[in-house]
Amino acid sequence: MRKPTLPALPMHQSPRCGARTRPGTPCRQPAVAGKVRCRMHGGTDGIGAPPGNQNALRHGRYTAEAIAQRREVAALLRACREQLGAQQRSGGAGAPQTRQRAPQPQRSAFHAQAPLEDDVPEWAR
Ligand SMILES: [Zn+2]
Repeated sequence: MRKPTLPALPMHQSPRCGARTRPGTPCRQPAVAGKVRCRMHGGTDGIGAPPGNQNALRHGRYTAEAIAQRREVAALLRACREQLGAQQRSGGAGAPQTRQRAPQPQRSAFHAQAPLEDDVPEWAR
């Protein structure tokens, strides 16, 4: 007579290690709590990178936030340039196409507070 199948115990439903063993089959040991590998395949305490590993972060230039911020700024600049180009083409027929800055008037400390009228480009008035 065949033994009746036992109901699956929680112990048997726990996630398995799955690491490749020497014969090439997946390891069937239960994974250590909070890890994906068993105690023999890297699940031991003190092994592996800590959760939320910050070791790779040097300066934050390539974090997702920094990249998204740079893209946002680039898109804004692109939109500004497109708008400026469209206005130069339509409005200013004789407008200079060079990107050189106009010579800035000399400012005294007194006048540094209030913006000069020359500082505001024609398209922004
Ligand atoms: Zn294992």
